[in-house]
Amino acid sequence: EALNNSTNLKGSIRVFCRVRPILQANKMKVRDLVEIELGKMVIRLSGGPKEFGFDKVFPQDQEAAQGDVLTEVEPILRYAVDGHNVCVLAYGQTGTGKTFTMDGINYQPGIVLRALEKLFYFASIDKTSTLTISISMLEVYMGNLRDLLATKPVREMHETAIRCGNLNNKTDQKGFIEIEGLLEVQILESHCLTRISTVRQCDHDGEVEVSKLWMVDLGGSERLLKNGATGQTLDEGRAITLSVSTLGDVIGALRRKKCRNSKLTQILKDSLGHDSEGLDARSC
Ligand code: ADP
Ligand code: MG
Repeated sequence: EALNNSTNLKGSIRVFCRVRPILQANKMKVRDLVEIELGKMVIRLSGGPKEFGFDKVFPQDQEAAQGDVLTEVEPILRYAVDGHNVCVLAYGQTGTGKTFTMDGINYQPGIVLRALEKLFYFASIDKTSTLTISISMLEVYMGNLRDLLATKPVREMHETAIRCGNLNNKTDQKGFIEIEGLLEVQILESHCLTRISTVRQCDHDGEVEVSKLWMVDLGGSERLLKNGATGQTLDEGRAITLSVSTLGDVIGALRRKKCRNSKLTQILKDSLGHDSEGLDARSC
């Protein structure tokens, strides 16, 4: 039953707002300016309240909040397994909780891990077809693509790990578990993309449905405006701002069939529209 009823998502864009709780360190210094009403968010400003509407708002004080976000994403996963390309983007200023939402922290895994878990669940209950799940991770840094799973040190470590057999875990001085030899690649200050690819093959007639599911943790859009940004930081900020604004163009262009060019939009373009029907490949 988990694989049915995803067709109503066709071509739609849904926008959710997640409000991060005020962090412990700031508790004494700031007032909570966000007031949530069902289905909309009201920001109380000195000049009077401003209202913003969303498909759904996740309040800051919610228990089990990571799981609630996944509940909203679940129909999208079904849609992907049905053979459609989809994209989940986290957008917002640095510190607003994009990485928390996409990757999560210890004991509170984010959307990417939960989505994978869900996909494996779909695979386990699917009695009529075989679902294959693959993952890629890359970064758009200064307009270039960087494969996070295939950098030279990672490849070398991976080969060593394969030669040595299984990875071992050990407990460090602070009592944290460390897995020796586990690959870790530092993500630079930019857009981080995880691509989950699924291939679903019908056991009966061998027919295959292929999909790409992009999970994107966008770079903070405010970096250009930071006071005193120079050199590399300024260039990074420019690159992030340009690609985010271009992405805005792409989403706006889904109906107009025209969009500007950037690496981010190039790689996402066939996952942003209804299987990219709305986009003109030549102008992207
Ligand atoms: P961003 O990726 O947008 O720059 P982060 O995800 O790194 O922001 O979040 C900034 C800080 O706020 C982190 O310490 C993170 O653990 C915390 N945080 C973010 N969202 C939540 C949340 N919903 N509940 C609790 N802590 C959160
Ligand atoms: Mg982040």
